[in-house]
Amino acid sequence: MNSLKHERKFGFESWDKEKINKVFSFAQDYKYFISENKTEREVVKTLRRIVEKQGFVEIDAKDYTQNKPKKVFKVNRDKSIVLGIFGKKPVKEGIKMVLSHIDSPRIDLKPHPLYENEKIAWFKTQYYGGIKKYQWPAMPLAIHGVVVLENGQKVEIKFGEKEDEPVLTITDLLPHLSAKQMEKKLEEAVEAEEMNVVVGSVPTSNSKLKTLNSKSEEGKDLVKLGVLELLNKKYGIIEEDLVSADLEIVPAGKARDLGFDSSMIGGYGQDDRVCAFTSLQALLSLDEEKLGQGVVLVFADKEETGSESNTGSLSSFIPDFISEMLFLEEGKHDENLLRDCLSATKAISADVTVAYDPDYTSVFDPQNTARLGAGIAVEKYCGRRGKSGTSEASAEYLGEIRRIFNKKAVLWQTGGLGKVDLGGGGTIAVFLARHNMDVVDAGPPILSMHSPFEISSKIDVYSCFEAYQAFLSS
Ligand SMILES: [Zn+2]
Repeated sequence: MNSLKHERKFGFESWDKEKINKVFSFAQDYKYFISENKTEREVVKTLRRIVEKQGFVEIDAKDYTQNKPKKVFKVNRDKSIVLGIFGKKPVKEGIKMVLSHIDSPRIDLKPHPLYENEKIAWFKTQYYGGIKKYQWPAMPLAIHGVVVLENGQKVEIKFGEKEDEPVLTITDLLPHLSAKQMEKKLEEAVEAEEMNVVVGSVPTSNSKLKTLNSKSEEGKDLVKLGVLELLNKKYGIIEEDLVSADLEIVPAGKARDLGFDSSMIGGYGQDDRVCAFTSLQALLSLDEEKLGQGVVLVFADKEETGSESNTGSLSSFIPDFISEMLFLEEGKHDENLLRDCLSATKAISADVTVAYDPDYTSVFDPQNTARLGAGIAVEKYCGRRGKSGTSEASAEYLGEIRRIFNKKAVLWQTGGLGKVDLGGGGTIAVFLARHNMDVVDAGPPILSMHSPFEISSKIDVYSCFEAYQAFLSS
């Protein structure tokens, strides 16, 4: 019989050396993944490369009525991607789904970003997702994204990441003159319109540009022109091209081991690329021949801004993909078959949760908050106040998840988003639940969540891999 009392277990206390070695080597690959893939587009590009090598076929690339592929994928506008593997059971009887998101809180450029002020060139920005604005000034920043030229050509930009490459930054006020700023509420200390990025200070030396410019106003905007000249030389773009661009400002540099013992990982964008990476590894580890139910992995965009937009989870691309899978199996698109499949589907909304932080005890219910290093955190519900706006998993589904995890000795705990009535938040689970599928949130606890330097435990990263693997193969 299991012990009468239920107590939280910690991986570093209960796992043997062999397992800890696996945990550390898994973390190396994870660190590399989040260092190299800081935007949704970069994740999609990398995933496409990986799954194509593994034999996944783009679902509507050709007519498969004769020869149905076993593994399929679909990329949605280079910003979200869905992977599927057929099992022995027909898709219409339901599938297993793990859904994570691959966008992270960051700072985007405004459509008309570049200007010059006091002989310095700047980018105007608008933040994306839930950030604490004061965390972003006075640190090295990089810019990632794409610019689409008028002729449709796409130019990729990734600047500020290489060791010998310059970086960008947002300024902050020196303490000596900050008396007024220091009196402000933290939320207003750095205002959104003050989050301008320093991008250059050398005026153009091009005499032709100078003459052209001087016709309007002598000596004006020569530094801005200097920057435009460099951008043109490096990327072949002009100022108007910045209108048709997705350019994201993110912390520069790689994710790092954290602590004298290297037990943790510090880095940007772990929410939610930790779930993207671990669920992908879980999928790739499956024995396809033994798969009972089909499995689908979704990597969604726009979670941090409410899942709207055509690449967010509220778009029809998720059911559309499943409909394509049904088509390959049944030879027809049929709304009823799709409904049957969705309502019989079991899902995990794979997203991070908060880890208990002993420096801020007043916001947590200690008994119901996940701990760093105690495994994947399962959340029955999140939401605000009286469970408002949440998707609550049923007792039956939690029972099933618990059974699956325990059978494979997955290290798991429960999590919750702090004390009732103090705040709250939501995940994609609600949008999956709208399709009438069973869904529960499960992901690793994170310290300093949504900051430029989030902290995870290597134990929890590995536990997520094991948990998603157990779920997908159950
Ligand atoms: Zn998240």
